[in-house]
Amino acid sequence: MAHLSAFERPILLQKLSSEHYDLVIIGGGITGAGIALDAASRGLKTALVEKYDFASGTSSRSTKLVHGGLRYLKQFEVALVREVGHERAIVHELAPHLVIPEKMLLPIVEGGTFGKFLTSIGLMVYDVLAGVEKPDQREMLTKEETLEHEPLLQYAPLKGGGLYAEYRTDDARLTIEVMKTAARFGADSINYVEAVEFEYDKEGMVCGIVCKDELGGKKFSIKADYVVSAAGPWVDDLRQINHSMNEKHLFLSKGVHIVVPHHQFPVQQSVYFDVPDGRMIFAIPRGKVTYIGTTDTEYKGDVDHIVANKEDVDYLLKAIAHTFPQIKLESSDVVSSWAGVRPLIHEEGKSASEISRKDEIFESSTGLISIAGGKLTGYRKMSEKIVDLVVKRRYKNDGIKPPVCRTEHLDLCGGEALPNSKAVKKYIKKTYKKIENGGLTKHDAWYLVSNYGTQSETIVKRFFEFRPLHL
Ligand code: FAD
Repeated sequence: MAHLSAFERPILLQKLSSEHYDLVIIGGGITGAGIALDAASRGLKTALVEKYDFASGTSSRSTKLVHGGLRYLKQFEVALVREVGHERAIVHELAPHLVIPEKMLLPIVEGGTFGKFLTSIGLMVYDVLAGVEKPDQREMLTKEETLEHEPLLQYAPLKGGGLYAEYRTDDARLTIEVMKTAARFGADSINYVEAVEFEYDKEGMVCGIVCKDELGGKKFSIKADYVVSAAGPWVDDLRQINHSMNEKHLFLSKGVHIVVPHHQFPVQQSVYFDVPDGRMIFAIPRGKVTYIGTTDTEYKGDVDHIVANKEDVDYLLKAIAHTFPQIKLESSDVVSSWAGVRPLIHEEGKSASEISRKDEIFESSTGLISIAGGKLTGYRKMSEKIVDLVVKRRYKNDGIKPPVCRTEHLDLCGGEALPNSKAVKKYIKKTYKKIENGGLTKHDAWYLVSNYGTQSETIVKRFFEFRPLHL
């Protein structure tokens, strides 16, 4: 079975430059990885190139939630909420160790975005659209109950709260696991290879890409029948190289998260709370830290170097001070941050937070297929749409029924033999039993399993083979 390995890079480079592919994908974020898995599992000979690290773009800079996007209900994006709502349950089943159910608390405050009644209706509609199972459906809380869930809200003008179901993940890890699963089906994915030009056939149709190996410096071509650009915020750059820009273009919206030590902002649970400007942000406890985000502002800077600036940090700190006035945080308390841009589709007259998060496919007259927009949560569905398009074209004249998408039933690497959260908990206990006499803790077992799932077994085996003698 093929696998993703940096050790095989020279062999892979040789293969990519000498073989002919059905499909080559530009971009190794969640969208590209998802397309690679879908295409390879339908039997297409698939290649993928990523110019930096896999998932180094937007797919490692998200809020790390696999969610239905409650706030899109406010914009009446019913179809989007339904689609991503359903998807999150599927992605949880494919990797229950990595996509973990977590209740989100929505405090209802005096003068907040929603009152009690609207919150209750909104969360109910959300549950219905996302197909949330009975035990996980929304729970409306009194002020006292809300404070039991999150005592830090004691100084907020609290009227009550709502608890609803979300999932949290590690976006970069999820991307890598999708990429590794694609490799099992034979997809050839390589990083530090940039697509710099397109190749065209005699009819002027795209028939491959010219690449630059960022490590060796050499240029080479990958020949393919179909080329898909899943380059996220860089989609328009490639459309420009393909001379296929039209009135549709991206709108880049910057989103920043800050990280503070958990003891300085000790939220007990994830909270989604109001910001004075009418937006809402998340505060999410994770191990020894709490992260807070996100901002949502138009971005016109260098997409290759996006950083959190003072304005972003001040905005988030002010938002915390508004709902949690007793929490005294300064910018010097911020131990880390990350910033990314959402590759949204421009809509005339709309601001960053008003623009739809739905995905869109652009097809150029020379055959380049590009996809942008969407959510991490919806990667599987976005991939299905793209590969449906590719196989429809490919089998058009053959009289053969194109192969159908089966990713809904393909466990991601590490998720095999883990049907649900209960099985994950059992597996953590089993892992702890194996590692405790190696000086490792329960937390280590949890960490291993919630990142690598059943692949922890290989890591543990290696640990005992190679650990220093004093352990
Ligand atoms: P990217 O991850 O950006 O991938 C594109 C890749 O293409 C990059 O790695 C880039 O290096 C590569 N590339 C570009 N040009 C080339 C080239 N010429 N050659 C080779 N490679 C190239 N969604 C959720 O579902 N849940 C959330 O909680 C959430 N929170 C978010 C918070 C923020 C602040 C942001 C910004 C987004 C959030 N999203 C969330 C949205 C989600 O992160 C994105 O929709 C998703 O990650 C986009 O993935 P992508 O693969 O399309 O793009």
